[in-house]
Amino acid sequence: MRILAARYLLPVSQPAIRDGALLIDGSRIRAVGPRAALKKGHPGLKWQDLGEAILLPGLVNVHTHLELGALREQVPSGPSFVEWVLSLVERKQNLSWEMYTKAVEEGIAELVRTGTTCVGDVTSTGVSFPGLKKSGLRGVVYREVIGLDDSRAEGIAEMPFAHLTAMQEEARRGPLEVGISPHAPYSVSPRLFLLCRQLQQRLGLKATVHTAESGAEIEYLRSGAGEIRTRLLPATGWGDVLPPILGTTPVGYLHGLGLLDSKCLLVHAVHLTGEDLELLAQNGATVAHCPRSNAYLGVGRAPLKALRDLKVPVGLGTDSLASSESLSLWDEIRFANQAHSGLLSPAEWITMATSGGAQALGLDRETGTLEPGKRADLVALSLDEPGADPNEYLLHEAGPEKVLLTLVDGKPVYERQGL
Ligand SMILES: [Zn+2]
Repeated sequence: MRILAARYLLPVSQPAIRDGALLIDGSRIRAVGPRAALKKGHPGLKWQDLGEAILLPGLVNVHTHLELGALREQVPSGPSFVEWVLSLVERKQNLSWEMYTKAVEEGIAELVRTGTTCVGDVTSTGVSFPGLKKSGLRGVVYREVIGLDDSRAEGIAEMPFAHLTAMQEEARRGPLEVGISPHAPYSVSPRLFLLCRQLQQRLGLKATVHTAESGAEIEYLRSGAGEIRTRLLPATGWGDVLPPILGTTPVGYLHGLGLLDSKCLLVHAVHLTGEDLELLAQNGATVAHCPRSNAYLGVGRAPLKALRDLKVPVGLGTDSLASSESLSLWDEIRFANQAHSGLLSPAEWITMATSGGAQALGLDRETGTLEPGKRADLVALSLDEPGADPNEYLLHEAGPEKVLLTLVDGKPVYERQGL
């Protein structure tokens, strides 16, 4: 057992504690409180005082595609949503396994040096799984499934099944979980969605779906027309495929297929009707909010206030480096704070980036706050402005250059040299 102390401890589940400390017992937190009280109650324990620093739960990045880091700087800026998807599909064909592996390694290095301890990563190749497993990070690795041809759905679902069971076996007892990601309502056939749902239930998996991201997606499901019909599907070999259903919304469509529940994380969720919002709340589905990616692709701004009013769990995601400049959740928080000016306080943004993310990924029993019984997943940042409000300071100043230490399960996944 050991004690970590700092000028401020931000448990997130309760207000900041000045001169705070926490007791770590193996991989779990045993106690949290003022340092004087912990010292008195636990004499003789190993003690590490970080001095002018802030200790808080590790950040939770609920939506990434680490493998797509290989497409950084290659994607034209300011494309339309459909142009961007087309360019991604084309450029992905030139990527080798080595390029994917390198991108995953670099992405993980960026995550840990920014204080991220938990991630929801979507992988079309499976390459991020061994990388994340090696890193010691917590999270859910979702195996992506795409296919619009209903007659081939069984064949398409077979491969993920074999892959998922193998990953699950390897993930047992570690901090990583395995999930499935039917890509989006416009790229997965109804039969394939149902097969993914069966796999999910059979293997006890979590799911994530890109949903209601662009106006083009809304138009396609409403009328079967628009850029997805005229440009995206012909270019990806599905020009003959008819829309599965007309006159619905993406959320309504997923609900009709029985997919919405508390194990389902909807990514983007930009275009939601009042009815969609009610469906999310009633079924316990969660949302990944990716404001920088949404702005880059010009798809609009997600209705964060309405989601919060209905108590839908929302976490923040950077999305991939193909639509976002960094994997730093601090950059995401600052952008979100500007995009939703005045909507949330600094403490509320920090809460969304930690406990909100843990809730969105269904991992809040283990991580997301600093509380006795939870895993010792945390980050320490240097506090260069003594006397500053810790939440304000983090919102405006936090970044990799301030991160001193990142722990998952009580073990360092990143440590500044010389600490
Ligand atoms: Zn995505």
